Amino acid sequence: MLLPKFEYHEPTTLEEALHLLSELGGNAKVLAGGTDLLVRMKLNIDKPTHVISIARIPGLDAIVPRDKHGVTVGAGVSAAALSRHELMMDRFTPLALAAGRLGAPMIRNRATIGGNLVNGRPAADLSPACMVLNAKVKLKSATAEKEVSVNEFFRGPGDTAIEPNELMVSINVETPAPWSGGSYIKLGARKTLEISMVNVAALLTLKSADGPIADARIAFGAVAPTPVRAYGAEEFLVGKEPSDEVFQQAGEIGVGLCSPITDHRGTMEYRCMMIEVLTKRALKQALERAKSWKP
Ligand SMILES: Cc1cc2nc3c(=O)[nH]c(=O)nc-3n(C[C@H](O)[C@H](O)[C@H](O)COP(=O)(O)OP(=O)(O)OC[C@H]3O[C@@H](n4cnc5c(N)ncnc54)[C@H](O)[C@@H]3O)c2cc1C
Repeated sequence: MLLPKFEYHEPTTLEEALHLLSELGGNAKVLAGGTDLLVRMKLNIDKPTHVISIARIPGLDAIVPRDKHGVTVGAGVSAAALSRHELMMDRFTPLALAAGRLGAPMIRNRATIGGNLVNGRPAADLSPACMVLNAKVKLKSATAEKEVSVNEFFRGPGDTAIEPNELMVSINVETPAPWSGGSYIKLGARKTLEISMVNVAALLTLKSADGPIADARIAFGAVAPTPVRAYGAEEFLVGKEPSDEVFQQAGEIGVGLCSPITDHRGTMEYRCMMIEVLTKRALKQALERAKSWKP
């Protein structure tokens, strides 16, 4: 399958890229790793007449810690870089783990976090992980800049809050509180090169090493038209002593917050069962990491 004809742009500054986007608007598409865009262009789903590569814009591929308060991840950071980054694994575990499960090594070397989020697929790996970290995406146009919570970014399959004249520049993530631990579990028919049948990200914060739950965050992928934050299950957990029983109940509440479909990857019933099982498992893993939190 050949790519259709288009005009290729390779800006070397952010300003140049934003100027091109404002001029070309809906006729242009941003090219990051190309693992989604080029496939869609070959299939004639996306038909941009202009393609704007962001590969030569300095800084978009950087992971920059902001004191102890958080980290700014450039939209052009690859899944491979996220999965290998020591700070990301230590403090932002769900995102590093999710990045390590995306596709296969060749895809992870190209696929970017910005592309994964802007793509807006319900089964994407990085979206639930960003959601439990309360990440905010920075969107820039030639004339304005805004930050949108990733929890409000997804509107439907392939539909997000980004406008055609905007570029996602970075993803800002606050450092989780002391005694926090996170996890990410992906269920697919295969261990690699597989889109999720169900995925679950969790972040648990304890009051102390063996204290009750101070905060809980859970998000699901592939179980609704957008990734879903399980607020009801989170509220249920806060203030409780962590145990298999409360984690099981959180999973049961989680099922009620989803509306999975039956498709070639799995039935609605199986997905519901797996939400329950994987929520419990993800919370147990998050608990173990929270207990061994180090300053
Ligand atoms: C074989 C294969 C396996 C895959 N497996 C998985 C998987 O397991 N899990 C998963 O989640 N995904 C998977 N994907 C999908 C894809 O790899 C990811 O969604 C990837 O993160 C997309 O990033 P990219 O940099 O390649 O995006 P691109 O293809 O470059 O772009 C994707 C979309 O986002 C837009 N875009 C990109 N960056 C920006 C930006 N900074 N600002 C504004 N718009 C932007 C583009 O215009 C385009 O519309 C797979 C794809 C392939 C081909």
